[in-house]
Amino acid sequence: MIDLSSTMLGMRGCVGKSVRQISNLLDFPAIVLLYHRIADLEFDPQQLAVSFQNFYQHMEYLKKVYHILTIDEFQESITKRKPFLSRSLILTFDDGYADNAQQALPVLESLNVQALFYISTANIGSRQEFWWDDLERIFLQDRQPPPELKLSVDGRMYSFSTQNFEARRLVYFTLHPIVKKQKPEIREQIFQQLCVWAGVPREGRETHRTMMTTDIQKMSKSKSAVIGAHTHNHVSLSMLSYQEQFDEIQKSKLVLENLTGQKINHFSYPYGAREDYDRQSIRIVKELDFTMASANFYWQVHRWSDIYQIPRIVVRNWGIEEFKQHLKGFYLS
Ligand SMILES: [Zn+2]
Repeated sequence: MIDLSSTMLGMRGCVGKSVRQISNLLDFPAIVLLYHRIADLEFDPQQLAVSFQNFYQHMEYLKKVYHILTIDEFQESITKRKPFLSRSLILTFDDGYADNAQQALPVLESLNVQALFYISTANIGSRQEFWWDDLERIFLQDRQPPPELKLSVDGRMYSFSTQNFEARRLVYFTLHPIVKKQKPEIREQIFQQLCVWAGVPREGRETHRTMMTTDIQKMSKSKSAVIGAHTHNHVSLSMLSYQEQFDEIQKSKLVLENLTGQKINHFSYPYGAREDYDRQSIRIVKELDFTMASANFYWQVHRWSDIYQIPRIVVRNWGIEEFKQHLKGFYLS
């Protein structure tokens, strides 16, 4: 029996690859790297953290071998249709973890390179973790919660066995996509229930905290950081109404402008896959006067790319040799 869907996917993959190769013959591609956290974590089920050592080696290598553009240089190439130099890239970080200010920024400053930090603003100044970290803290940490969970999600009841680690791991992976699809107020109701059930505080861990006001102000004064918005509550925009999307995007911009005293020109769509934002999101980003917006799908950037849907490449906790291999692939394929 032939699996048609995988054959079709394979064909699409080939077409995509050759389009990339032809584009790269016309013009050098640039790439946009996407980091989230610089930290050593015991559990990292979403693979968001890169260790400090790996990050340092990535940066040292990039500085030697690649052109790490400033955000303005990158943006200018696209708005003025100027070709990129060979091996051009920019660095970006999503979400606004405190380690961006404490671990990543000093490395960038020491090498005199710049990155764009997209920050979700709801947790600034609170001790709450992002919801995906709360989910990990509740289900994947070494503790014994009650053996059964009954959870109400927007009026719908779910029932799970949680009697051993394997069962809780399954609940984690089952709940992750369910929680991702909820609006912020429903999400909060879920975590209120889960924290009571597990007997853990709503406040989170120091190791998973997000930036405080002082971190953001420190960043805003550094030549190595450009600050961008990433919605207030880190929501998948496409499930919201026009007005809800507008409020989410505008609020993050205003919070950051108030904190930094600077105009915030950059935005990235939370989660960033093509299904996580829509035409309305792009329209709002333009209406709110952002000059560039990043997505999160795999592709390279050329001077003719859509500046409101910049593709990016997620960096995992790769050792330096693996990192080099990935980079080579991004430019050659
Ligand atoms: Zn994000």
